[in-house]
Amino acid sequence: MERTCCKQRYIPVSFETLGLKKPILKGVRDAGYDQPTEIQQHAIPKVLAGEELIGLGQTGSGKTAAFGLPMLDRLCGGEPGLRGLIIVPTRELCVQVAENLRTYAKHAGLHVCTAFGGIDLSIQESAFKRGLDVLVACPGRLIDHLERRNITLENVEMVVLDEADRMLDMGFMPQIRRIFLRMPDERQNLLFSATLPQEVESLVEDFLPGAERVQIGRRSESAKTISHRFAAVSVHDKPDAIERLLRQEDGKVLVFCNKKIGCEKLGNMLKRAGLPADSIHGDKSAEARHACLGAFSRGRTRFLIATDVAGRGIDVDDVELVVNYDFPLVLEDYVHRSGRTGRAGKTGRAVSLVAPSERKLYEAVKAHLSGKEVKNAPSAPGRGYGLPKRRDGGKRGGRRPGRGGGRRAAAGAV
Ligand code: AMP
Repeated sequence: MERTCCKQRYIPVSFETLGLKKPILKGVRDAGYDQPTEIQQHAIPKVLAGEELIGLGQTGSGKTAAFGLPMLDRLCGGEPGLRGLIIVPTRELCVQVAENLRTYAKHAGLHVCTAFGGIDLSIQESAFKRGLDVLVACPGRLIDHLERRNITLENVEMVVLDEADRMLDMGFMPQIRRIFLRMPDERQNLLFSATLPQEVESLVEDFLPGAERVQIGRRSESAKTISHRFAAVSVHDKPDAIERLLRQEDGKVLVFCNKKIGCEKLGNMLKRAGLPADSIHGDKSAEARHACLGAFSRGRTRFLIATDVAGRGIDVDDVELVVNYDFPLVLEDYVHRSGRTGRAGKTGRAVSLVAPSERKLYEAVKAHLSGKEVKNAPSAPGRGYGLPKRRDGGKRGGRRPGRGGGRRAAAGAV
């Protein structure tokens, strides 16, 4: 039976009352957290008690600490060696989860390592030899290390499968099953996912049959702190529209494209236009992606153009605006993209440029968001949605009226 924490009243408590050991609490203080988020408050005592959980968390709800803190607590003071495993779908998420865990583990004497593709296996192997208690890994690279006998999973006591629905999208389910079969039967399993598609349900049946389901809000719900706006823009006018939009932003903006090539092209175009922009996608090396995320996190690059896979794990707290340059092809991606802003209770904005061919997808998203803040602006070009007026009064958009609705659709309401 599915139980939902949103039905219980959320009364903020302190981390101290959740039962975490002192070294872990020190790590929480280092992370700068004052109070546990709703999912942390609900999940931490249960995981500490050895229960298995399926967390259906909102994006940005603090789920990394919800599983990371009790995992570190369990391992703290025990035998050294690989006893905690966190499986994540992307390199970016791998690095970010590991960075968070290292902060939490700083006073617990536990070593957190990563395993992701794109860098030399031997670099990761050397790190394992220096000390390995918790491994944050992408499935493919984890299997590479297992096959080379660089690590063994025979002492793993606790495993977390993060973003299970994305693992499914990326075709990782067979690898996940292989990995699960290499761990001892006596272990604690946690699974986190924004949604539970059928294949994830069947994984749950096979490996976590008795787990409690913890849901915050509706499935696939967007964070309530995000306002959603939509602008009708023809495909032809999108480059111009995004440039004008970004020029009036002074905070960090994450712009999503559906394809790697489009992402690269848009990043280059914006750079040429003199904007502090860069692009991140799967064709870039792990080092280049890491450097790119670092520059965005520090604010040196304020406009980051990303594909879904690369953008999914971006854990930058102060993204003020998410732009769908290409409208996402599935609802879940809309939820995940917009979840990059409005994190940890902050307010955020999502703006989508909707071409006529993307209207159907937009209708589906709008239906999903109904009841939430969906602002439809008047239909005059350039008004509403945070899109500035064109300097040329919209004339350029009317150059090719035959394509994509022409001038009227250049930046008007959908
Ligand atoms: P997550 O959902 O784990 O990706 O977390 C989203 C963001 O919220 C991250 O930047 C975390 O560092 C931050 N965060 C997590 N838990 C807390 C908390 N209890 N208080 C403040 N920020 C938090």
